[in-house]
Formats: sequence, C-alpha cells, structure tokens
Amino acid sequence: MSTAETLHRLQLLDTAIDVIRRRVFEIDQHAKGTPALAHTREEAARAEAELTAAQVALDSIETEERTIDAKIEAEDKRLYAGTIRDPKELVEVQTEVQELRRRRVGMDDVQMAALERVEDARNDVVRCRASLQQGEVNFVSDVAAGRAERKQLIAKLTGQAEQRTALVSGLPKTALDLYQSIRTKKQNGVAVAEIRNGACAGCGESVSSSAAQQAHTGNGTALCSNCGRLLYSE
Ligand SMILES: [Zn+2]
Repeated sequence: MSTAETLHRLQLLDTAIDVIRRRVFEIDQHAKGTPALAHTREEAARAEAELTAAQVALDSIETEERTIDAKIEAEDKRLYAGTIRDPKELVEVQTEVQELRRRRVGMDDVQMAALERVEDARNDVVRCRASLQQGEVNFVSDVAAGRAERKQLIAKLTGQAEQRTALVSGLPKTALDLYQSIRTKKQNGVAVAEIRNGACAGCGESVSSSAAQQAHTGNGTALCSNCGRLLYSE
C-alpha cells in the first residue's frame, strides 16, 4: 500500500474512531444527568416550596382568626354577664367588639384566597412529582441503554485501535507526523482530502496536475495549496 493510500485509510479509520469517541462522551455526559431532568427537579422543588409557603400563610391567617374569635367571645361574655357597670366602658367594649367583627368578616376573603393558593400549590406538587417520577424512570432506562451501547462501542474501539496500530506501522515517521500535525490543526480532525473532479474535497480549491499526480501515485505527500491537507486520489 502506498503512503498516500495508507494515510487515506488512516484518515477514514480516525474519523470513524472520532465519531465513536464522541458518542461515548455523549453517553457519559448523559449519565451524569440531563438538563431536562435537572429542570424537572427544580420545578418540583419550587412547587414543594410554594406549597409550604402557602400552608404557612394559611396557618397564620387561621391563627389570627381564632385569636379574634376568642377575643369576640370573651368580650361578648363580659357584655352579656352585665358585669360592666361603667357606661363609658360599656360603650368602649361594644365599639371594640363591632370593630373586631368587621375585621373578622374581612378576613374571610383573605382566608378563601389563602385556601385557593394552597389548593393550587397542592395540585402543582402532584403534577410535578408525577412528572419528576416519569423523568427519573426514563433517565434510568436511558442510562441502562447507554451503558449497553457504550460496551459495544468500546469493543469496536478496541478493534479499531488494533487496525490503527497495523496501519501506522506501515507509514514513514515523517508522513505520520505530518498527518498528526495537520489533523490537530483542523477543527473536524480531517487531515486527508480526496481529490474530486480536480478539486480538493476539503476546501474546494482546484488541485494542480502535478499535485494530483503525486496524490495518485502516492509516492509522496502532496498538500492542498489552500487548506494544507494531504491530498489523496484513487
Ligand atoms: Zn484543500
């Protein structure tokens, strides 16, 4: 096999290895948790916190109502027991009871609103818990599927590593070094470009006939004058 052909095969193999490595990376990232699941967890936590806050608000209103009720009851008792002799005090107590009753009536609406808030929050918690549970079930099953896929991919990578060692052993060190250095410079890791219709498939630049000849016979390492990739032609 010529150097150019070996480099071309090495490129195809490395590209395939890159794809598998990326997939393995994806699987590993996914296993750490997904943004969607994190979002569902946050939503659930927010719903639980809102329910607690709504419950606290309702409790506080109900406590205040009980306090007012107790006060009204106590003052009523005093009024009806006839123990208040002073007419001025009697008027004062009557006024106070009236005021308390007014306040108490106003609180019914507040309590109703607080009750509705608790109801809404409770419904939200139920919905969020169900969605979180579903999300976690899906995640666990995705992770299990990912683990199985990962195992297959690693086996494939092992085979590819063997093929790579064999290919690389047939290459002159200078050609391999050149290939590696171009590969690290290219964003997609493609160092070898085929010549298609007289142009470099990596960048589209037309290839000179001498470079095309070199890429074809494979006696050396022809480079694209524009993108600097190693050229290959069947
Ligand atoms: Zn090019």
